Amino acid sequence: MSDLAGTHLGHYRLLRLLGKGGMAEVYLAYDEEKQREVAIKMISGHNVDYLERFMREVAAVDKLTHKHILPAYDYDSEESWHYLVMPYIPGGTLRELLEEGPLSPTAALELLEQIADALQFAHEQGIIHRDIKPSNILLRDAHYAYLADFGVAKFVENSNRLTQTGTLLGTPEYMAPDLAEGPATSSTDIYALGIVLYQMITGQLPFVAETPLAVYWKQIRDQPQSPSQHQPSLSPAIDAVILRALEKDPHQRFHTARELAEAFRQAIEKPEHYLAQERQRLRSRLKQERKAATRRPLRLRRPTPPSDPSFLPEATPVAVKTRERRPVAITLPPLPIRRRAARSNDLETPYPAQPLSQQIVREQPRIRRRRNTMVVSIVALGFLLFVGLPMSYMYYVFETHRSQATVLPVSTPSIQATQQAPQGQPQTPASTGAAPTITGSTPLLDDPLSANTPGRWTEDANHCVFASGSYHVNVLQTNFLQPCPLLAPTIDNAAVQVEVSLRSGSNAGVMLRVQGEGFYDFEINNQRQFFLRRHDPGKGSSYTSLIPPTTSSAILPGGLPNTLLVIANGANFKLYINGTAVGEATDSTYASGQLALAAGTLAPLPGGEGSFTNFKIFKVS
Ligand code: AMP
Repeated sequence: MSDLAGTHLGHYRLLRLLGKGGMAEVYLAYDEEKQREVAIKMISGHNVDYLERFMREVAAVDKLTHKHILPAYDYDSEESWHYLVMPYIPGGTLRELLEEGPLSPTAALELLEQIADALQFAHEQGIIHRDIKPSNILLRDAHYAYLADFGVAKFVENSNRLTQTGTLLGTPEYMAPDLAEGPATSSTDIYALGIVLYQMITGQLPFVAETPLAVYWKQIRDQPQSPSQHQPSLSPAIDAVILRALEKDPHQRFHTARELAEAFRQAIEKPEHYLAQERQRLRSRLKQERKAATRRPLRLRRPTPPSDPSFLPEATPVAVKTRERRPVAITLPPLPIRRRAARSNDLETPYPAQPLSQQIVREQPRIRRRRNTMVVSIVALGFLLFVGLPMSYMYYVFETHRSQATVLPVSTPSIQATQQAPQGQPQTPASTGAAPTITGSTPLLDDPLSANTPGRWTEDANHCVFASGSYHVNVLQTNFLQPCPLLAPTIDNAAVQVEVSLRSGSNAGVMLRVQGEGFYDFEINNQRQFFLRRHDPGKGSSYTSLIPPTTSSAILPGGLPNTLLVIANGANFKLYINGTAVGEATDSTYASGQLALAAGTLAPLPGGEGSFTNFKIFKVS
């Protein structure tokens, strides 16, 4: 489209180009009749595909009268041009605003509430937006937002977007993983809004990669980093809101857009209250999943590459269920190529029939388009099978190894045996299911870690600190594992349990059988994974992986406390998280040693913090 500035469309004089979206162009124009500035989105009628979608936008906007949805003043056509006249919104887009840096949670809340309200209103009218992102949020000023761009197809003209001819695919950075398997729903819009919120408060996208395909693959497979890892000032409650909005399983997300905004408000105003509620919700969800799993026939899936002989996964129903849902089980990163014939069913509720669009959709182009779409689909499928899939696998292997290799070992402080103080209330780890190997329900040591009263833990001003009723392990550099040891005699066979909250940084957990630089560590990381590995003296940054990082739904996200239990008996290690058995491994390198709590960082994170409570040691036979 050449620059049309200076020309007239009816009584509108086009002044200058404001922006482009797909095949449409948006001009600032002057309405000579009403004597005001307007924005005009126009499209050439030669492009039947776009025109059809353009008509959908006209119909959608016509149906959606809401103070935070950009309205339409007028719609008309002239010669081959079709155009939509809207109010001119001078404040730019949210995307431009975010280029200046992230917003404070309060400023983000103000815009979120408006957009969520608009989006929910659209959902209530049976309209799914399908392309929620900052460039589709227009700003009158920093305090007033409009949701814009309903239903117009976005063809890819740059690498930011996935596309196939005749198909609206959305923007991969904002596309929910469930779009791989089904149509757009209100929940996929809520997921996209969650990504926008993530971007508002951190200034970053949770999933970035070189190509659209790699981004979408990450949406499906990876867990997002908690926002507080980008902005340490953000609270665990805010982390929890965002991570729930970005749940892979749509049933676990907020049910409505307003619910998301309301949760975000609570997380800002009453963080402790919100966290308590969220913990309760996650616990009852775990319980329900466990209950449902016991009723379901067990189907095992090996969660590690077959080349790793040391990992014998526990047949835990919850873990199995998650693995089955995990994208690694989906062999094709699914480009959501939609069949044109079925497109009208893609929405939960279809758009109203449009007489105008019926007039312009002719039969011949339809057949041609269908054939083109089929050819493109076959080519895309071939590409995915022979190029995309191998590359994705290589990427997966690379990522897995990288996360293993880049942690530098700790120069573990020399751990002195001083005292052991077995005391505390008798407590049975009932939910662990570990009874067969724990001898006796009375812990040898039961320490709430609210204070270092008997001086049994290492304490200093910076790294190992007792504060606010818990023991904090602070990592003050990148690529580092910081231990805070229990100053106790060596322990050989024992079950060690502790509640850990990964507040920031990459990973946190428990080290056992520590002998100088030789030790095992069982940790969770910020990808909602757990791992067990061994470090040997003089091995520098390399670890021996006993259980590689493995995603588990047993792990509560967003800095919430997770109870880790490791039963170390001879060469056998059994791992439990929140009462769910997650893995088992065998290694006979170290038979005994000391215990420590640890937190670690991986570049680019500059530091991190794990906080620990309720530490217990049980005897095992
Ligand atoms: P769209 O095709 O709706 O994505 O619009 C493309 C770009 O045009 C947007 O990213 C905005 O920069 C600009 N734009 C669209 N509508 C308006 C409007 N009503 N007022 C001002 N700028 C607009």
